[in-house]
Amino acid sequence: MKPPVFDYVAPESLDGALDALAEHGYDAKILSGGQSLIPLLNFRLAQPGILIDLNRIGGLDEIRLDESGNLRIGGMTRVGTLEREPLVAEHAPLLFETVPSIAHPQIRNRGTVGGSLAHADPSGELPVIAVASGAQLTLRSPKGERTVAAEDFFVGLMTTDLAMDEILVEVSLPPLPPRTGTAFVEIARRLGDYAQAGVAAVVTLGDDDRVADARLVYLSAGDIPMQAPRAVELLRAEGVSEAVIEKAARLAAAEEIEPSDDIHASAAFKRHLATVVTKRALAVAIERARS
Ligand SMILES: Cc1cc2nc3c(=O)[nH]c(=O)nc-3n(C[C@H](O)[C@H](O)[C@H](O)COP(=O)(O)OP(=O)(O)OC[C@H]3O[C@@H](n4cnc5c(N)ncnc54)[C@H](O)[C@@H]3O)c2cc1C
Repeated sequence: MKPPVFDYVAPESLDGALDALAEHGYDAKILSGGQSLIPLLNFRLAQPGILIDLNRIGGLDEIRLDESGNLRIGGMTRVGTLEREPLVAEHAPLLFETVPSIAHPQIRNRGTVGGSLAHADPSGELPVIAVASGAQLTLRSPKGERTVAAEDFFVGLMTTDLAMDEILVEVSLPPLPPRTGTAFVEIARRLGDYAQAGVAAVVTLGDDDRVADARLVYLSAGDIPMQAPRAVELLRAEGVSEAVIEKAARLAAAEEIEPSDDIHASAAFKRHLATVVTKRALAVAIERARS
């Protein structure tokens, strides 16, 4: 398939991109890595009148640690950069561990952090990691800047809180509290395929070795990154024995996620896999929190 006819602009400043977006409104689409948008155009699932290419704008791909210890990642940062960046390895181990599971190297080398979050595919890894990490997303419009928590950003199937005139410019990951362990486990038919099931686990242990706080966030498990607050509550109340982990995993998989049948797996099989990945991820995250 070939894309529909569209106009194209490649501004050299963020203000230029925001002006173009404000001028063309819903007729415009932002182009970052193009790894999702171009296939959508080729299949004519999207038919924008104009593409606004962010690739010539400098400064949107910086990775830095701010004075509060937050890891700040520019929206145009290539996903592949994350797996080679020591700051990510040191300050965002959950993200660092997850990146090799995202697509293939060629796609990671073009696809961007901002594009992946804005695309909001519920099978995507980065939306799950953003929610599990308690990330804050910075959105810029001609009116100024606002910050949205990742868990409020994803509002429905491939739908976000982004307004028509906003561009996602930065993601900020807060530092992990002491005695926190993280793990990401997914199951895909082949390395690089979209996962049939996957979970990010973040576990903070108290001095008594009980769970003080935790997050379980699932991909391919509903319209948005799905959380399992009741399973977390169970872990907090009953501890981290193998039996409790089993119970929490079954609760999350049976009652808290909402997978549907698709070409990759049936909903029932995804629930089964969710139990498996939850047990594996919790065991690793707890072990890492202890050490
Ligand atoms: C074969 C294949 C396999 C893949 N496998 C996986 C996988 O396993 N896991 C996974 O997570 N992804 C996968 N992807 C998707 C890939 O990670 C994409 O790169 C990513 O989802 C989109 O990022 P992008 O920069 O290419 O965005 P683009 O394609 O440029 O844009 C995607 C959407 O986001 C909007 N947008 C882009 N940037 C911004 C911004 N800064 N602010 C506001 N809106 C913006 C665009 O207008 C568009 O609607 C795969 C893609 C392919 C082709």
